[in-house]
Amino acid sequence: MREPDVPDTAPEIRRTTCYMCACRCGIDVHVAENRVHHIEGNRAHPVNRGVLCAKGSAGVMQHLSPARLRAPLRRTGPRGSGEFREISWEEALGIAVNWLEPIREQHPERLAFFTGRDQSQALTGWWAQQFGTLNYAAHGGFCSVNMAAAGIYTMGGAFWEFGAPDWERTRLLILFGVAEDHDSNPLKIGLGKLKARGARVISVNPIRTGYSAIADQWIGITPGTDGLLILSLVHLLLTSGKIDLAYLMRFTNAAWLVDQDPASPGFGSFLRDSEGRELAWDPARHRAVPAADVARPALSGGFNVGPTHVKPVFALMAEAYLDPALAPEAVAPACGIEPEVIHRLAAELADTAFNHPITLDRPWTDHCGKRHETMVGRPVAMHAMRGIAAHSNGFQTCRALHLLQLILGTVETPGGFRFEPPYPKPVSAHPKPHHKVTPGYPLDGPQLGYPRGPEDLAIDADGRPKRIDHAFSWEAPLSAHGMMHMVIANAARGDPYPIDVLFLYMANMAWNSSMNTAQTIGMLTATDATGVYLIPKIIVADSYSSEMVAYADLVLPDTTYLERHDCISLLDRPISEPDAAIDAIRWPVIEPERPGAEGVRGFQSVLLDLGVRLKLPGMVDANGKAIYRDYADYMVRHQRRPGVGPLMGWRGEDGTGTGRGAPNPKQLARYIEAGGFHIAHVPEEAAFFKPWNRAYQDWAVKIGIYDTPQPYLFQLYVEPLARFQAAALGHGPHQPPDALRERLARAMAPLPVWYPPLSDTDTDTYPIHAITQRPAAMYHSWGSQNAWLRQIHGENPLYIPGALWESLGFEPGDFARVVSPHAEIRVPVARMDALNPATVWTWNAIGKRPGAWSLAPDAPEATRGFLLNHLIPETLPTGLSNSDPVTGQAAWYDLRVRIERIPAEARSAPAFPSEMSPVPRAPKLVKFRAG
Ligand code: SF4
Repeated sequence: MREPDVPDTAPEIRRTTCYMCACRCGIDVHVAENRVHHIEGNRAHPVNRGVLCAKGSAGVMQHLSPARLRAPLRRTGPRGSGEFREISWEEALGIAVNWLEPIREQHPERLAFFTGRDQSQALTGWWAQQFGTLNYAAHGGFCSVNMAAAGIYTMGGAFWEFGAPDWERTRLLILFGVAEDHDSNPLKIGLGKLKARGARVISVNPIRTGYSAIADQWIGITPGTDGLLILSLVHLLLTSGKIDLAYLMRFTNAAWLVDQDPASPGFGSFLRDSEGRELAWDPARHRAVPAADVARPALSGGFNVGPTHVKPVFALMAEAYLDPALAPEAVAPACGIEPEVIHRLAAELADTAFNHPITLDRPWTDHCGKRHETMVGRPVAMHAMRGIAAHSNGFQTCRALHLLQLILGTVETPGGFRFEPPYPKPVSAHPKPHHKVTPGYPLDGPQLGYPRGPEDLAIDADGRPKRIDHAFSWEAPLSAHGMMHMVIANAARGDPYPIDVLFLYMANMAWNSSMNTAQTIGMLTATDATGVYLIPKIIVADSYSSEMVAYADLVLPDTTYLERHDCISLLDRPISEPDAAIDAIRWPVIEPERPGAEGVRGFQSVLLDLGVRLKLPGMVDANGKAIYRDYADYMVRHQRRPGVGPLMGWRGEDGTGTGRGAPNPKQLARYIEAGGFHIAHVPEEAAFFKPWNRAYQDWAVKIGIYDTPQPYLFQLYVEPLARFQAAALGHGPHQPPDALRERLARAMAPLPVWYPPLSDTDTDTYPIHAITQRPAAMYHSWGSQNAWLRQIHGENPLYIPGALWESLGFEPGDFARVVSPHAEIRVPVARMDALNPATVWTWNAIGKRPGAWSLAPDAPEATRGFLLNHLIPETLPTGLSNSDPVTGQAAWYDLRVRIERIPAEARSAPAFPSEMSPVPRAPKLVKFRAG
């Protein structure tokens, strides 16, 4: 047993930002003698107001984890053996420079740099751009890019970091596919407010856990059919006329005219005048005029403008959604719910929205200069997450949900859904993807962005992907966050070309972050005929001895989140609330100590150091000297635009500026004094109608979010989608391969549609859906090695719905053989009745490989814990990735299986050989005493 070190001195409180999940609450870390005593919630913090979850308090054990890396490592045994020698930082960075320097001079694209659950994309993306590679992305492609992209293209923002329900005024909240994950404490606090006010909460989710368990109504939908349910609600609301037409006319493109002439070069696009203004039909003047110039445009019918036949967007919506195929009776069997449930839900939405409007006596002025005396809203709010997004029809499902919000008039109005600065931000305010590689020079712009049409794809003259992950190709045109789940498979195949260095940060790609885990491991160790690895060099930066570390050739050890600087920036993924822009920092509340070893360094500082050694522009001055001392210095002095840097608070030499201003050398000290965050309140008159509210637009310019006001209309009909669809139908100079035309024509529909998940090809043989959920107690894969948290979830049974359990004759203690078209697993089971009858599920990322994470090889996580990942192929039989065809989002939840009862086995299968760990094995028992 290892005895605890108990500090003699009383602890002092150091305020920083939690990183035990992506929610980023404020925490009070009680520290004495450079040791963590305990962690509390920061009561003054706007995100969590003192609330601390189990994960947050268990940050103590994350910091003390025996799996923490201690020194840079160089592989000595075969890849995957876990055999390393500790080396100095000088040697480690020297090796990295030796590998990267020649690549930059000759083939910068042969560096593939991908980051996982990181929150410093503003830095990592810039670094990769300065290096010159187009092969960069973060983890969004295998997380929730469908949610983000659907929101950006439709409304200029989505859920989670983009916006939140109006917790103070909402009367009805519907959660779609939300487990305990992003936005954890704010959701709990918000749900508490709704419950206290007697507001209704409905959860649509195949599994009744977490938020679904406290909902007033749970709708146990069949996975992958949320879009069908939502479009059926749209059908009922349109049929009954329960839609907010005034809102649609003022704030959306409902009236814009769409070219319907298949012979026209603009087929599917908006009709515009010579000045590029979108046109609407003015019934009074019997002609098309700029949409902004007509108060009561036509919303129905069709018109001829010169030789072109056109229709308003709303008319196309009516044609699409009045279709009887969307009636509840028609969709209910597929959704696994009764038609009556859909009827009642539509009636409740209509009643809440239209019989209980909210009026705030708060004058505001719109972007045209018109003053309004009140703010009127409809108290229906939605929130959605990965449950609806991680399907191959997820993008269109997320779009459908935004359509539902918009026809009810509930976005950016009191009682509805509200954006959080820097959102709303239309597509036009985002970059396009850049992919022009020039050896020895930076890339021509940011790698990631939002294509406006086929001309923005990252493809070569023959239409083949330019990126290693095939993002922004015809396979997934709008892959705004990249397709990280395809990098290893494509790199091993050399498709479209071989890479030299795979550089991963915080991404456990040899285990729970990859589909097809066993074969992915094989790809990491595969060699060519000469014995050279197909992926020749792998650099991994991580804090812990994860499964992926064993497959690295060079390991750069990161600190824990209590030991480094971090920047939760408005340039990246801030922690704003609808009434305030908020950013935050982490800072070393504990100095890193790894006794007897070289020690660890914050990855962001290491990246900048590497940039200096590689002499990357922006990181060195004219004399080749470092511009930034380290990441902390970068956070203060780096400027993306004049006066606008990573942190918005206390800018200017006197520290009085917010958002804009010269770098302030005392900025970090001011953040620390203030509790680790800065808050800039949205003025009262700017609090709603943000895309059209002059006060909001002016405020956003003042604090540096925009450089000029950016008013815009919500896009019910998305023209970039229409342009890809038109290309698939043969229009325009940029043409997809014939094999993809049909799929593109269906998936790139400019109005939301539903289609079955792409891998649903043999549903008779594989009738059961299999999905995962994130538990409340764990977030990253690293949570399941946390000494406190693993006492909550040390293993993860496969939960089987009651009727299926009985029909297959399961008994407690049994195992199941679970077979997908790709592979099989054998795992322990448990019965659960609050579950969709055609669905089995388990907790995410509990299973561990023996030997990893400093756990004993016979730890329950390694013997009874398991992953569904083994069952999920990264490539479909068509040869295309197992992804959404619009965004490339990994289709984790499309998995279909068949199951059978088998007697209990000694351990879950497949079982993997134990790997050696470069850190010492954890002691059997650790005592921890806080005072
Ligand atoms: S919700 Fe997330 S960020 Fe907040 S205390 Fe819990 S783990 Fe930390």
